[in-house]
Amino acid sequence: MQIAIVGFGITGAALAVLLSRRGLRVQLFEQAPNVGPVGAGILLQPAGQEVLAALGLLDSALQQAERIAEVRVRTHRHHPLVRIRYDEWQAGQCAYGLHRGRLFEVLRQALDDRVQVHLNTRVKRCLTCNANAIIMDAQGNEHGPFDWVFGCDGGGSTLRRNSALPFHEYRYSCGALWHIGHTNRVRGQLFQVTKGTQRLCGLLPTGDGECSFFWGATADEVAAIRADFTGWKTEALRLFPESGDILHALQSPDELIFTTWRHLSLPQVVSGRLLLLGDAAFASSPHLGQGVNLGLLDAWMYDQALASTNDLSAAAEQYAQIRQQQRRFYAHLTYLLSPFFQSTIKGWGTLRDIGLPLLCATPPFRRQMVSVLTGLRKNWWGGTMKL
Ligand SMILES: Cc1cc2nc3c(=O)[nH]c(=O)nc-3n(C[C@H](O)[C@H](O)[C@H](O)COP(=O)(O)OP(=O)(O)OC[C@H]3O[C@@H](n4cnc5c(N)ncnc54)[C@H](O)[C@@H]3O)c2cc1C
Repeated sequence: MQIAIVGFGITGAALAVLLSRRGLRVQLFEQAPNVGPVGAGILLQPAGQEVLAALGLLDSALQQAERIAEVRVRTHRHHPLVRIRYDEWQAGQCAYGLHRGRLFEVLRQALDDRVQVHLNTRVKRCLTCNANAIIMDAQGNEHGPFDWVFGCDGGGSTLRRNSALPFHEYRYSCGALWHIGHTNRVRGQLFQVTKGTQRLCGLLPTGDGECSFFWGATADEVAAIRADFTGWKTEALRLFPESGDILHALQSPDELIFTTWRHLSLPQVVSGRLLLLGDAAFASSPHLGQGVNLGLLDAWMYDQALASTNDLSAAAEQYAQIRQQQRRFYAHLTYLLSPFFQSTIKGWGTLRDIGLPLLCATPPFRRQMVSVLTGLRKNWWGGTMKL
């Protein structure tokens, strides 16, 4: 069996490990000329931990990571907004802050010689013909035939755009500047500061004093920050003194990287012999900290469907049926919550600052919040997944 995976991100890498372990020959296509330890801090939630543990890779992934026991958010007036602990859901439970690049390296090192990697190959489309699929790259070269193609090419997926699958995409006007620095001021927690809905910034420790700093901003604000970097640093220090070590060490706006988000709604994920997974099918804003975790779960659940059906096509159909429920739940919830944290709707910030502390004071609500954070929540009614 010949398999093509397009996109060597976290989802594509995890899927390649799983499918090659089933004895399938995998060709992995990546547009970047080099892949390596890029990115910033990610939150490895209990869902992602379970997938990595099942792959036997959790210990390696956690070699440099920070145990995150709680999530804290305060307002610009230093009023507590959220403080929830992972062990309120289950004793001993936690998340880990780690560098995305380290997780990627662990997955890459787990690939065996059944996986052939083609770097610098931007795939444009997938064509299904009878029982096979062929992929075309941007240079006009054909690759294949393949028994199945997996589109793991991220939120901007070219395979999705060039397929017959209908989808709706919403591009947020806001995003975040991020930077990896060093500080010990915040340990063992994801710490965030808000000011209305205009400002959301935070620190995520990722082990050994390394820490990801992020500053929510629109493209226009980023231009203003680049124009008056010193003025921005003064403003940032006033709002977020906990990030002082990182801000003092920042020399130039070029050390800050800007990312924006999008929200996708995709009723179907299978087209011919193509299945979309990860951000290619389900991208959303990162406010619930789930991107990597749900991508790992996608790969794991397809592999489980394949184990039970022993047929690539039947597994894709089964995966599409069982995966949509959880994916829709997280997508809808993120879409509903995001404007309360980053948007131009000012009144929502006041509503959040009044309502959230009251809700957080009730233990059943806190448990609901933690169960969402774990990445294992199945739906609105509270069921959680077991791997
Ligand atoms: C470089 C990078 C850094 C990131 N850093 C962070 C971070 O710091 N924190 C965080 O929370 N999330 C980060 N993310 C996002 C996070 O990794 C994803 O939300 C999550 O892991 C789901 O990943 P994915 O594999 O589905 O998609 P992605 O991680 O987006 O991976 C998609 C891969 O497909 C490749 N690709 C895209 N189009 C094509 C094409 N046409 N042909 C071939 N290859 C293609 C991309 O180059 C990329 O390697 C980052 C993603 C990337 C690509």
